[in-house]
Amino acid sequence: MNIIIFGPPGAGKGTQSKFIVKKYNLYQLSTGELLRKEIANKSKLGSEISSIINVGELVSDDIVSNLIEGFITDDNFKNRMIFDGYPRNLNQAKNLDFLLKKYNQKIDIVLKLSVSLETIKKRILERQSQEQRADDNQEIAIKRYKTYEESTEPVLEYYKKSNLLNVVNGEQTIDEISKEISGIIDRIKGWQSIIRQYKYAVT
Ligand code: AMP
Repeated sequence: MNIIIFGPPGAGKGTQSKFIVKKYNLYQLSTGELLRKEIANKSKLGSEISSIINVGELVSDDIVSNLIEGFITDDNFKNRMIFDGYPRNLNQAKNLDFLLKKYNQKIDIVLKLSVSLETIKKRILERQSQEQRADDNQEIAIKRYKTYEESTEPVLEYYKKSNLLNVVNGEQTIDEISKEISGIIDRIKGWQSIIRQYKYAVT
């Protein structure tokens, strides 16, 4: 099963992705982490990426697409990916569909962690003292939230139309959110198994 997790910066996408990875034996594909690795390599591309990330804007679709394609084409990750931070705009969503189709896969579940700007500001402040990410300060957090609203929120409509979207209340505690997410994944896995058995029975 392939999952996408959406949410504004500080919504807990990374934390919940790690929980899902462990519980369901999936692979977390975080474009933010891949980009930060590229920056740590101190390459020319890395410095280009860092100047964009540090102002809270989106890195170009081509750069991100090149980073994820290697995973989608890798059999080790086939049908066991959780996309954390990708897609972030409509163009990326269409590109993801195209790539998945090309390699005989699809998205099974879309999760959205819904969190208010007030909560985000509080969480970013807490995270700032723990992780020291260059793009984690109040001003950039607000910019990243706005980028999310403008570019990423419209992508949710795209998945809503395909009946894949599940909205989770991201204001809850980490454990409560994990529990709600598990409930959604188990329910959908259950349905998929019934459909598989039915298809098997009629063929
Ligand atoms: P994240 O770790 O997901 O919060 O991402 C950190 C930053 O990396 C974002 O604010 C963007 O600047 C950049 N980034 C991550 N994923 C993408 C993406 N799919 N497309 C463009 N930029 C991205």
